[in-house]
Amino acid sequence: MTLPMVFRDPSLPARVRIHEVGPRDGLQNEKTAVPTAVKAEFVRRLAAAGLSTVEATSFVHPRWVPQLADAEELFPLVRELPVRLPVLVPNERGLDRALALGAREVAVFASATESFAQANLNRTVDGALEMFAPVVSRAVAAGLRVRGYLSMCFGDPWEGAVPVEQVVRVTKALAGMGCEELSLGDTIGVATPGHVGALLTALEAGGVPVSRLAVHFHDTYGQALSNTLAALRHGVTVVDASAGGLGGCPYAKSATGNLATEDLVWMLDGLGIETGVDLAALTATSGWMAEQLGRPSPSRTVRALSHKES
Ligand code: MG
Repeated sequence: MTLPMVFRDPSLPARVRIHEVGPRDGLQNEKTAVPTAVKAEFVRRLAAAGLSTVEATSFVHPRWVPQLADAEELFPLVRELPVRLPVLVPNERGLDRALALGAREVAVFASATESFAQANLNRTVDGALEMFAPVVSRAVAAGLRVRGYLSMCFGDPWEGAVPVEQVVRVTKALAGMGCEELSLGDTIGVATPGHVGALLTALEAGGVPVSRLAVHFHDTYGQALSNTLAALRHGVTVVDASAGGLGGCPYAKSATGNLATEDLVWMLDGLGIETGVDLAALTATSGWMAEQLGRPSPSRTVRALSHKES
């Protein structure tokens, strides 16, 4: 298989942990419903390809996300895998379901903007934070790791520009609540590298250490890798990505949503940054998943490597 030549850049971290979101963020935004056994096999293959963190599913009410209505059946099929398997919990009921199945790690999904908090959670930003506070504190008390997602950090489809100070305020609230890791989401993919740098600088000045931050970029405007590189230069070492680029962007009406894990690994491999991921195994997994979904992967790297091999 073709691999990039390696040129290390000493200003960048030596190692990056990829937070794989394909089975959750990816499949929740795909139109095709995937059988539980296929999802379990997907998670297994991702773990076998070297992804150390695989977000497995969501314990949101099945009415809101029918694609992930089988969380109760799926989680027991994968929970013994030797990787971190966070699950999304929208509220205390979701946390109860996750705890009952032995989840060791959970994530909550907050919004940096009022419009998206209303649209997605039917609450104000502060109302949503109030709802998450007992979820986070109970999870922490139970010994779980908690990640806080923050969506619309760089732009909002209803409000347009999102002030950096607003993002800093909500991030600090989630951090103060007990979220160990905070994932900054560019939900509609409008961020550019200077914006990323400005937000990370403001967060650090606001007392949120970069060691607690992860970035979650969407490739809607082709900026996801540039934005990732900007974040790495600021010391971020956790990057969210979705195998094969699964999950279009529901708010930007685009086929291109999540940063594809293969595109990320290609860049990190070329930079000599360790991820533990085997690009060939990962690409094969995404090719297999694309067959299950009946559509080709939007990942440039998956396409390039598949062409070379056929
Ligand atoms: Mg996403």
